[in-house]
Amino acid sequence: MRVVPTALGDVAFRFLKPLRAIAIIAAHVTQASSVLFGRERLKSLCRVASIFSLSAGLVLYTSLGFAQRGVQPSDSYSPQLTSDIKQLRDAALKSGYAWDQLAHLTNNIGPRPAGSAQANFAAQYVADELRKLGLDVHLEKVIVPHWVRGEETAALVDFPGMTPGTTQKVLLTALGGSVATPPQGITAEVVVVNDFDELAALDREKVAGKIVLFNVKFDKQLAALGHGGSAYGQAVVYRGIGASAAAKQGAIASLIRSVGGADYRLPHTGAMRYQQDVPKIPAGAVSAEDAEMIAYLAKQGRVRLHMVLTPQQQPDVESFNVVADLKGSERPDQVVIVSGHLDSWDLGTGAIDDGAGVATAMQVANLIKQIGLHPRRTIRVIAWMNEEFGLSGGRAYAAAHKDDVANHFAAIESDLGAGHPAGVSMSAPDANLPLVRPATQVLQPIGSGLLQTSEGTEADIGPLLSLGVPCFGPIQDDRYYFNYHHTAADTLDKVVPRELQENAAVIAVLAYSLANLPKDLERPAARPATP
Ligand SMILES: [Zn+2]
Repeated sequence: MRVVPTALGDVAFRFLKPLRAIAIIAAHVTQASSVLFGRERLKSLCRVASIFSLSAGLVLYTSLGFAQRGVQPSDSYSPQLTSDIKQLRDAALKSGYAWDQLAHLTNNIGPRPAGSAQANFAAQYVADELRKLGLDVHLEKVIVPHWVRGEETAALVDFPGMTPGTTQKVLLTALGGSVATPPQGITAEVVVVNDFDELAALDREKVAGKIVLFNVKFDKQLAALGHGGSAYGQAVVYRGIGASAAAKQGAIASLIRSVGGADYRLPHTGAMRYQQDVPKIPAGAVSAEDAEMIAYLAKQGRVRLHMVLTPQQQPDVESFNVVADLKGSERPDQVVIVSGHLDSWDLGTGAIDDGAGVATAMQVANLIKQIGLHPRRTIRVIAWMNEEFGLSGGRAYAAAHKDDVANHFAAIESDLGAGHPAGVSMSAPDANLPLVRPATQVLQPIGSGLLQTSEGTEADIGPLLSLGVPCFGPIQDDRYYFNYHHTAADTLDKVVPRELQENAAVIAVLAYSLANLPKDLERPAARPATP
């Protein structure tokens, strides 16, 4: 997920009027979110960045061109470097290594929620695999929360036109961090609202003692246009802070319409957070289809729902970031990070979110070793722990390496699935574009030649961006990502082998180019870390 767009270039704005309104809405939502729900800010802001950055990139490189931007022409790479990255690109497109690693992480190890035995086992597995490649591997301790899903069932028990003596099943899932209902569940009337304003306009007695359902639609049309992340950003704030908003008005449970575009009656989980001074009430997500049904029935009359959610917040657990160095030949002290997050949600097996990111990062090291290349700077593969539930790994790493941040030459993360990559996104000053452009030119023949700038970056490397480290990532096709994101259907089959290879090609070419740049990158200004 991409993080923190704060300001956008004037150029982008001038050419993006139709998109501007969407962005302003999303920015508004994310600002509101950041006040009450710091971590969620990362999740929701990310999509805003992508809509701008993709469009901005297109504008900059197709409409305006370099000359009008006043950007220098590309710095050419040495014939050797150009040849090396072409070799990496071609090898990535032939290799099954990333796929095999992803298959193992998802099918053999399975779901890897933070704090679980599988998450830690996966860390050991990735460490062992990277040792096999000859990397210098260690585990860095990360303390993670351990929230465990329990029973989750619901049914409509009273609604207009119901057949006497029957109920109607509702598909729901607990949101990460939710407290439990009593073991026998709760039964209450459902109050359906379409947004926070509608809720706020209701008298307290209309809400008190009831279950609030935020029926906020995920904009499937926007997602279909290639702006899945922006659609996500618009709706995810209700997942983050909806429960506390409902509890403030006396609700006894909170439900959201799932944040995602699926048509298969799948509930989508994801993190939520309670506001400190408000009672904690159970929080779940119903499938979009069930939200529609409840809203329909509620217009006809009283709808009562029985729901049981029995998750448990268990004691924090010691876990790990996997950190593996492929030492640089000339500047081993300087590191280029390639990364993905190893934890997943528990409903699926975490293939698109984010086993794919870990597998492609591992592939970078594998390809470099396979071809026998020697990067000038160190390439550091990192499998982050617990992006989903508080960004523990990304934060712990930034804190532990704070004094060494100047030696962090660049950081790359992939965390938006494995859809076809259109190119490379850079979160760093524009002055660096000519240095990166030769790498994207090598990617152009595989349809990945776009180079864009973005204010934000993926979540785990966000803390490094805050410390002034140039950050990068592939620009993935996210049209379908949110159909499966955080659901039971996030499984290996959702990844297209060829597209995984293309992602590996982009990341390998980018990482190796950065590790061999003849000069330093201009660094982004340090900024306050996201809370
Ligand atoms: Zn993710």
